[in-house]
Amino acid sequence: MNAANYVGRFAPSPTGPLHFGALVAALGSCLEARARRGRWLVRMEDVDEPRCSQKAADGILRTLEAFGFEWDGAVMVQSARKECYREALERLKREHRVYPCACTRRELADSALAPDGATIYPGTCRNGLPPGKSARAWRLRVDESVVCFDDAVQGRICQNLAREVGDFVLLRADGYFAYQLAVVVDDADQGVTHVVRGADLLDSTPRQIYLHGCFGLTSPQYTHLPVAVNTVGEKLSKQTRAAPIDERHPLPALVAAMRFLGQEVPADIRRTTTADFWAWAVEAWRLDRVPRRRTLAAIVPAPIARDADGDADGRIGKPAGGAGQQ
Ligand code: GLU
Repeated sequence: MNAANYVGRFAPSPTGPLHFGALVAALGSCLEARARRGRWLVRMEDVDEPRCSQKAADGILRTLEAFGFEWDGAVMVQSARKECYREALERLKREHRVYPCACTRRELADSALAPDGATIYPGTCRNGLPPGKSARAWRLRVDESVVCFDDAVQGRICQNLAREVGDFVLLRADGYFAYQLAVVVDDADQGVTHVVRGADLLDSTPRQIYLHGCFGLTSPQYTHLPVAVNTVGEKLSKQTRAAPIDERHPLPALVAAMRFLGQEVPADIRRTTTADFWAWAVEAWRLDRVPRRRTLAAIVPAPIARDADGDADGRIGKPAGGAGQQ
């Protein structure tokens, strides 16, 4: 492929402020795109509207800007694209690839669980709604084939969707489209050729590849970066109360994210400006140095300490109290 055809993206869900884990995904996807002289897009994944907010979306973009990220083109926003998801679903309906499902969460409570704790759909409504029941969600019918792909960091990944996931939801019972559908439609519409994101999405990838196949699309190449976890192994997120990164002092967090991704950062770069950091990082970035792990404990710079007169004391990134070793 001509390097100029590379299209990467960062696709945050605006459920809260940008934290270190998301910064790692933003940095890795951006540097890989820039190092390959490609385009890098930002997409606001607010398809799960009840969990997202405009305030969080604005905050994430502001933080990215403060950190010196420069994306190409306008930011795509999922909540404005429901018509595209509806059309995609209608197409799958016409091709009988999806079916309505009446099952409630409670009715599925005794179903087998996948390793990630998700319910494996037992196929209750696959051959028609049970008498007297009405449709709540729409599910994609999966077949028995094994979906495999070669991840640039994690190696070969295979999943038997029928056994490990089951027919999965594309339109949720609450009327919102599922992330799995939105991400596939959006990546295709934006011409994304390379997806670089956190390894927490590794188990979703075979579902997305399967969906690409249903639409007759070629899947992007996938690269799943290690996910930043705290000392007890929880993903840094709003739910685990990860501290937002300090947008007034980008450099310590950028350097920490770089080191988390296995890149050596020379001492002079640790004391430079954000602009110089970027100029250096695009040239220095090596994907093959990224640790081939799904999770990695993060040392996150603590919010910058304040002087007695209220000034932040500059560029010192301190490991968060009790944070684990890399
Ligand atoms: N919106 C997803 C998240 O923030 C990322 C989806 C993706 O990169 O495909 O976890």
